[in-house]
Amino acid sequence: MRSRAAILYEYGRPWSVEEFELDPPRAGEVLVQLAATGLCHSDEHIRQGKLAPPSDVLSTLGLPAMSPTIGGHEGSGVVLEVGAGVSGFTPGDHVVTSFVAVCGQCRWCASGMEYLCDKGSGTLTPGMPTDGTFRHHTADGRDLGHVSKIGAFAEHTVVAADSLIKIDRDVPLVPAALLACAVPTGYGSAARRAGVRGGDTAVVIGAGGIGTAAIQGARISGAARIVAVDVNEFKRQSAPRFGATHTAATAAEALELVRELTRGVMADAVIVSPAMIGEADVGEALALTRKGGTCVLTGLPAPALRSVALALQDFILMNKTLCGTVFGSCNPKSDIPMLATLYGSGRLLLDEMITRRYGLDDINDAYADLASGQLIRGVIDFGTG
Ligand SMILES: [Zn+2]
Ligand SMILES: [Zn+2]
Repeated sequence: MRSRAAILYEYGRPWSVEEFELDPPRAGEVLVQLAATGLCHSDEHIRQGKLAPPSDVLSTLGLPAMSPTIGGHEGSGVVLEVGAGVSGFTPGDHVVTSFVAVCGQCRWCASGMEYLCDKGSGTLTPGMPTDGTFRHHTADGRDLGHVSKIGAFAEHTVVAADSLIKIDRDVPLVPAALLACAVPTGYGSAARRAGVRGGDTAVVIGAGGIGTAAIQGARISGAARIVAVDVNEFKRQSAPRFGATHTAATAAEALELVRELTRGVMADAVIVSPAMIGEADVGEALALTRKGGTCVLTGLPAPALRSVALALQDFILMNKTLCGTVFGSCNPKSDIPMLATLYGSGRLLLDEMITRRYGLDDINDAYADLASGQLIRGVIDFGTG
């Protein structure tokens, strides 16, 4: 079938919105009509070539260094057709995409760590996760990759059934798109990985889409004080709406504030979720972390950043925990429906996180708005939800 998508032909070039050819789903695959797709920073990093898979990995797979690719991984939509052997979905089902594919069989899935699923490890390479071949092609017949095995910057896509999570039909599909990436990643960074508990003091560094979800994860987990740190005034002003009790423009400013608020104890949990983690960010975050506290790195590092210096004596003797997280250490199959329930109860705010809705054709303008700090979350609304 013919559909339309935002395609990246070369790193650094703008998204090209055009028609493409989509094959029917094969065994284990599902055809989805997208209702909405969130504009995640990761797709901008991909466009800039900052998340390119290593070229030696691609050449081992017999793939060129850069395949033209459809972007987008934070999608929601409706199932139109299922391939052979797909038992969990039927046409008409409402779904959220999961850039962490969940096989349900590997060691990690079997032990409650779906976010580490072995199937998720190939997510940056092109081709279907089912058999390595392509369902997406340019109008002139070239194979197209689809970001994170999703390709949600498209009116339609074909994905592995393992990359979809079913949600109730009464959850509106546009806000539901945020459940595909930003919200579980942020919420889980606070609620799961940092283990925020009632009465805690939490600091969230970077109050964009993921940071805002982290603020909500801390609030819903019962944090008494939540400090949102962002140099952008618009983001500082919107943070209290999601649960921030205090704001600071910089980590240095937050250091004084948290010292005062906690009488020198410092924060139980610090979540680091800026657009990109820079060299000084980790040390500053650990300085904000109390004895025995937890500091979670949620953002991606700047591409040139390979390592950071730690104040080791403080880190060791203060018994601190520094950890990474993927998908906020959430399990897509149980946590996405749980987050939809929290939204339904009014405790998790999703509509308020959507600063603006765009058409697919406006995608480059939308990313320009994100880059200039005007958005908590922008969403492509395909007008079908
Ligand atoms: Zn994302
Ligand atoms: Zn698995």
